[in-house]
Amino acid sequence: SYVLSRNIIAPVQSMKNASKRIAEGHYDERVSSSGTDELSQLAASFNQMAAQLEQVETMRRRLIGDVAHELRTPLTAIKGSAEGLMDGVLPANDATYQQIHNEAERLNKLLSDLQELSRVESKAISLDIHPLDVSRLIETTLKRMQFQFDEKRVTLNLNLPHSPISVLADEDRALQILTNLLGNALQYTPPNGTVTVTIEREKSYVKFSIRDTGIGIPSEHLTHIFDRFYRVDKSRSRTHGGSGIGLTIAKHLVEAHGGKIWAESAGENKGSVFIFTLPIG
Ligand code: ADP
Repeated sequence: SYVLSRNIIAPVQSMKNASKRIAEGHYDERVSSSGTDELSQLAASFNQMAAQLEQVETMRRRLIGDVAHELRTPLTAIKGSAEGLMDGVLPANDATYQQIHNEAERLNKLLSDLQELSRVESKAISLDIHPLDVSRLIETTLKRMQFQFDEKRVTLNLNLPHSPISVLADEDRALQILTNLLGNALQYTPPNGTVTVTIEREKSYVKFSIRDTGIGIPSEHLTHIFDRFYRVDKSRSRTHGGSGIGLTIAKHLVEAHGGKIWAESAGENKGSVFIFTLPIG
């Protein structure tokens, strides 16, 4: 009975205690899992589960911290302007009201982006997948964006394959991905620059590349820019109203279609290229 108790009852008891501690929120709890018998394997799986729970909890905490931080910036600006008006430091004129309105607008945009992010992250979006003609898709996107490009004097070029090509995708979501990437390309490219959209067929995928001659992305940031709230230059993108969520949403949408998305850049002021793939239709 001593052997039975030491080899079986003690490890089971220790797992029972550990699961109780985890249920109470102590996600760093682990059990000893040395050995190769079934109980040790169970202990190893238990530890793996605990590690995953701990990671989810860390991400949840970080998300709340990030969201609070993001909300604070426009709110502080609104509060500052209101106080300035009350103290008479800021003139009660159109410019001041416009500034308050812009910050409120930024809050609004941030909240809609967060809502959209939560929908895509929880996979709560339903995709209406059909074969879509790529040139029509690009045409619709360009129709939406050409005016903004003309206004900033950024040239928009297009390289389509000679023969018609289609993708299997949800039309609205495909347009959303393209609009997002073209919007970024425009935002981060100074006037007189160029943005080139290239469509190529590659095995069972269609590859969309959006290349710009803009500010580029230093290599150490390339892998992070798809993380939520990540901005290369925080102050610069914030003044443009960027929330750092657009690329995260685009990545989820591309992956929901079974595609991949990534970015390449030779470095600062050397332009960037954003590439994504969608299954051929
Ligand atoms: P934002 O709303 O800040 O643009 P995104 O998620 O769309 O958020 O992009 C995240 C960050 O990636 C941006 O803040 C910017 O630093 C960088 N980025 C995105 N697209 C480009 C681009 N075409 N050229 C240079 N940097 C870019």
